[in-house]
Formats: sequence, structure tokens, C-alpha cells
Amino acid sequence: MISKLLVANRGEIAVRVIRTCKKLGIKTVAVYSDADVDSPHVKLADESVRVGEPTPSASYLNISNILEAVRKTKADAVHPGYGFLSEKPEFASALEKEKVLFLGPSPESMELMGDKINSRIKMEAAGVPVVPGYNGQNQDPKQLQTEAEKIGYPLMIKATAGGGGKGMKRVYQPKEFLSSLESAQREALKAFGDGTVFLEKYIETPRHIEVQVFGDKHGNVMHLFERECSIQRRHQKVIEESPAPNLPAALRDEICSVAVKAAQSIRYVGAGTVEFILGKDGKFYFLEMNTRLQVEHPVTEFITGQDLVEWQIRVAEGKKLSDLTKGNQIVQNGHAIEARVYAEDPENQFLPSTGILEYIEFPDRDFLRVDTGVETGSEITVFYDPMIAKMIAWGKTREECASRLKEAVDETVIFGPVTNTFYLSGILSHEEFRKGFTHTHFLEEQNIAFSPDRATQADAFSFAAAALSEKKKSAGIWEAAGQGGFW
Ligand code: ADP
Ligand code: ADP
Ligand code: MG
Repeated sequence: MISKLLVANRGEIAVRVIRTCKKLGIKTVAVYSDADVDSPHVKLADESVRVGEPTPSASYLNISNILEAVRKTKADAVHPGYGFLSEKPEFASALEKEKVLFLGPSPESMELMGDKINSRIKMEAAGVPVVPGYNGQNQDPKQLQTEAEKIGYPLMIKATAGGGGKGMKRVYQPKEFLSSLESAQREALKAFGDGTVFLEKYIETPRHIEVQVFGDKHGNVMHLFERECSIQRRHQKVIEESPAPNLPAALRDEICSVAVKAAQSIRYVGAGTVEFILGKDGKFYFLEMNTRLQVEHPVTEFITGQDLVEWQIRVAEGKKLSDLTKGNQIVQNGHAIEARVYAEDPENQFLPSTGILEYIEFPDRDFLRVDTGVETGSEITVFYDPMIAKMIAWGKTREECASRLKEAVDETVIFGPVTNTFYLSGILSHEEFRKGFTHTHFLEEQNIAFSPDRATQADAFSFAAAALSEKKKSAGIWEAAGQGGFW
């Protein structure tokens, strides 16, 4: 049994993991960089340890500093969250040596799935459909170009070590190939220290459908249904939901069972996500497997009523999946949608917007969950991802769910850095989105307003001011508002 767990992460995911530990009576240890001394995840944990300077490589990515914190606090398990060390096999191996449980799969699974070329080869061998392409045995530009001709255009050049939408280039025409190749390799080398690429046929106007899978230490694997993450900007997810709208039941079942087959073929243990791309013709292909808890896991929790972090903990302790389901069939109940609230400026090419959160307040409603790692006074810095919160709503139907989430996003008050809430609201109320006809080019093709026009903005501010003065006569807000220059 785990009695003390260290969370090797920060922000909303650290807070979210600590919450489950509290529920289960597990002691928690937070780690923090100098930029996060006063962060909610630090306040919430039973103990906390400084792991270095703000730069990730000095703190949250510094394996020896994190190991030192594990030893010092005698934690018996580590949750890596997502990002940072969550997909680094060397971190999992180091913990194994210390006899500390790592809440993730084996280092071998991470190694295999972390390399997109090897995982494609492995999946193909296991009978899982992969996107037609070239696995990059030969990295010579001329050879790659010859292979590109065979695949046909448009195609994707992708980094084998890629992630987070980086190291990926869409190529429309043969004459663009060599220059795109060069820039993909350069970007991959810079972001991942590895310039190796492979080629994939470009699936046109596709949908991104992924499946939540779980494996236990007894050889069992199951799925917790699909999530649709087609609403993306630059290959990065903005809105995610479950179930996937307008997906025939037979196709859903097939995708879910192929995902289980994929995980079984590598004897996967713990939480994982198998990502697929679904073409207009109904054919789907394996894209990659993420060997960690995914950012969008709350939508799955909402529709299944399960706590996936609790599952990770129990699986690591050696429990069987059948103990977790208590023999019950897990079903999809209703609909859940997640929107990622970012400190970024939609009007200025979505550039991250940094600074102090002068005031932040989320609505408190039924069927709404807000996962955040910041509070009024927190600072959005250049060191980390500018995600402020994930807002997740549930509804009996997709329509009810989308309306609830839109209203909640509209009622969110954030003074300080510019955020994308207006943009999110625009997507959630968009007619095509409401019909559920989504695909990965949706945001490029649809005209979604980036920010309110001046008149609406003035109205909104007066409403906000009125609402605030009603609700909170406390100080702080007024000073904050004054600094913001709105009054
Ligand atoms: P996914 O849904 O596949 O997790 P994301 O867009 O959420 O995709 O994340 C892409 C990559 O960036 C992942 O490796 C994820 O772990 C990482 N990432 C996302 N947000 C953060 C964050 N706040 N801090 C650190 N890493 C992050
Ligand atoms: P990452 O590791 O960065 O998450 P993925 O392979 O999961 O990379 O792809 C991210 C997104 O890029 C997908 O969700 C999809 O929108 C787009 N994409 C990736 N491969 C293809 C492809 N072959 N055809 C069309 N779109 C693709
Ligand atoms: Mg992906």
C-alpha cells in the first residue's frame, strides 16, 4: 500500500493528484521551483521540497534533485503528472532502483512508445492499422524524397521523438519537400535533441479520436471509451469531449477494441491513451500512444464516474482491474466537454500572455468541474505552460453539456493576463460545433471571433463591475481593477 506519494509536477495536475491522495488518506509531498514557492499545489500538500531554479531543466526536469526529494521525504511512490518527466524511461528506471513505485508503465513501454518509428513498427506487427508511410530507415534527404513520391501528397513529415504538436510539417507539393524536411529536422533537433523523422500520408479533414486504456500487473487491459479531440490549433488540443459526436456505435466499439489490442501487445500497465486519426471514409489509423495520464482525462472521469488517479494508484499497488470495477460494467453516462483556458492572446497570434493574475474567479455550478493550479495573486511566467485552468462540464446530452460549459466560460472572471475565454465561448456556441461536425481543421476554417468588440466589451466590464461589487465588497478587487485600468 502506498502511504506517501510525491508529485513530480506543478500546476493543476499536481493539485488534482493531491486531491485524490487526500481522499484516499495518502500523505502527499509537493516539489517546487523558486517560481512556485507560493503555488496552490505547495500549500495543499502535507510536505514540500524545493527542487531548484525556475527553468524546468534545473527543477521539474532535474532527475537527481527529484530523487533527492523522494529520499528526504521517504515517499514510497511518485506520480509524474503529464509533461516534464512523465514520459522519461530513465526517471522510471531510477525510481525502480530506489524501490519507489512509479505511477506509470514500465520503462520499456515508455521507451517503445516514446519513439514514434518503433511504435509504428510494433503496432503494425500487432495488427493495428497505422497511417501509411515510411518509417525512416534511411534518413538521406534524397531517399526520403523518393519515399515521399511513393506515399503521395499531401503528407506529413514527423519527428520520431515528437510531442505537443512540435516537429511536424504538412507538405502539399513535391517542390516544398526538401525545405520542409530541413525545417522539420531542425525543429525536432532543437525541441527533442533528435532530428530523426518519418513520413505519413496526410489524412484529409480527419477527426482525432483517442481511447483511454488501463492495464494492471496481472496482464489485464481494458478501455474507458473514447475522447474526441478534433478541435485543435496547430495540432494542439483546445476542446475535448466524450463520447465522440456522430460516431457510429459499431465504429466506436471497433476503435476501442483496437486500442485494447495495441496496449495488450506491449503488456501495458497503468493509464495510457491510444490516439487514432479517423478519415472521412471511416478508416482509422494509429497515431501514437501517450504513456501517461492525459490532460483531458477529466472528460472520461465525468462520463464514467471513475477517478483515474485512484485507478493509477491501485494498479501500482498491484490491484486487479476487476477489483477497481468491482465487477461492474463501466458505461458512458451522458456527455462531457473540456475547454482549456490559456493565458494567451487570440488577437495577437495566440502569443502567451504573462503577468500576475490580479483577480480570478470561476463560477461554482452543478455539473461543472474546474481544475486549476493558480489563484488570485499567482503569476503566469515564461517558464511554464500558460494554461490557467481546464473547465469541464457534464450534461445528459451534448447540447446541454455545451450550453453549460459555454455559460461557465462566460461567467469566468480573470483580470491580469489576456486569456482565450472569449474564443472558447465562440467555439462552444458555434453552430457547426453544436451539430458535432468537427474535424481537425475546424478552427482554421470557421470564423470564430477572437475577442469582443469594443461596445460589448464596455458592457461586459460594467456587468463585471456590478457583479463584483454585489458579491465581493472586499478590498483587493478594487485595487486590482484599478491597476487593470478598466475604471
Ligand atoms: P495530450 O492531450 O496528448 O496530453 P497536450 O497538448 O495536452 O496533449 O500536451 C502535449 C504535450 O505537452 C504533452 O507531452 C504534455 O504532457 C505536455 N504539456 C501540456 N501541458 C503542459 C504543462 N502545463 N506543463 C508541462 N507539460 C505540458
Ligand atoms: P503529437 O505527439 O505532437 O501529439 P500526433 O501524431 O499525436 O503528434 O499528432 C497531433 C495532431 O496532428 C493530430 O491530432 C492530428 O490533428 C494531426 N496529425 C498528425 N498526423 C496526421 C496525419 N497523418 N494526417 C492528418 N493529420 C495528422
Ligand atoms: Mg498526440
